[in-house]
Amino acid sequence: MGPGPSNVYPSVLQSMNQPLVGHLDPEFLSLLDETNDLLRQVFKTSNRLTFPVSGTGTAGMETALVNFIQAGDSIVVGVNGVFGSRMCDAAERLGANVIRVDAPWGEPIEQRTLLDAYPSPKAIALVHAETSTGVRNDVDILGSGKGESLLILDCVTSLGGIPVELDEWKVDIAFSGSQKCLSVPPGLSPFSVSETAREKISERPPSWYLDLNMISRYVDGVGERAYHHTAPISMIYALNTGLRHLHNEGLEMSIARHENASDRLKEGLERLGFRLFAREGNRLPQLTTVWVPEGRLPPGRNEADLRRTLLENHGIEIGGGLGEFQGRIWRIGLMGHSARPHNVDLLLNALEESLD
Ligand SMILES: *Cc1c(COP(=O)(O)O)cnc(C)c1O
Repeated sequence: MGPGPSNVYPSVLQSMNQPLVGHLDPEFLSLLDETNDLLRQVFKTSNRLTFPVSGTGTAGMETALVNFIQAGDSIVVGVNGVFGSRMCDAAERLGANVIRVDAPWGEPIEQRTLLDAYPSPKAIALVHAETSTGVRNDVDILGSGKGESLLILDCVTSLGGIPVELDEWKVDIAFSGSQKCLSVPPGLSPFSVSETAREKISERPPSWYLDLNMISRYVDGVGERAYHHTAPISMIYALNTGLRHLHNEGLEMSIARHENASDRLKEGLERLGFRLFAREGNRLPQLTTVWVPEGRLPPGRNEADLRRTLLENHGIEIGGGLGEFQGRIWRIGLMGHSARPHNVDLLLNALEESLD
């Protein structure tokens, strides 16, 4: 119940035990095509270039930047937590002119401030679900106000846990991660590029491994499939199985399950006297942040000790705060397969027992 990786579906682990086939084996290619179709359904997009990048969520972030942002390009980045800053850092390394739009941690970013930050930037980038603070940043009006700018959305923690509507929101480039609400082990970054953005891919991006021109010759289902790098076969088995699980449950049902488990958790925490951290109205169901209950920790023990007790005595992991909120907040994940009332009750009981 930390900020990811989440618990993996048992069937996903089993799928990874299957014998390997080659990355150009027809059976594997049809499994990859099916996986990409399933990804289009969760991303709510018809984008042809939709596939899992080989690597974790951060590889998806780099792919989004390195293929579209060149030295001197201007990019507006919303920052209200660790992952917004990470995007600034990655864009700065490409020599971009980064315009940071900051909001206090725990608060959402006002969409208007992103649109007004700079005249016609090359791109506007935002983290949809800030895992470091438990805040949802809304995106719904960015698409209609952005003009020619590309809209880049970090969906690592949002995908599968809250609604993501790439086509409706006119998102141009989106990336996610396998180990958060999709409940698959870490190692893949589901990725999608709009048809408009596809025409703006740099001819020769500075990364060879993440070059979308070359990768699309392998992942795009038409014509000859050319080897670029070996696909992580077992991880694709895992992602395919995880996405089928989600498909069978139903995306809307999964989103409702996150919501219900989270309501139960937030109510329970408040009943125990905790104060929630993220701004009401923008709280994520899949990641709840609470202030550490300073006055109620057992004598002589700090918050890290208490988290260790949860882990050792109850088998429950929760996350600590990051940056200036290290030691001051906790981050409790209810992601994917982990988002169940039973888990919430186990945690609430364990907390009640461990607090003074
Ligand atoms: C976890 C996370 C990432 C980074 O993903 P890794 O899989 O750790 O590389 C990026 N953005 C957000 C919002 C995340 O939660």
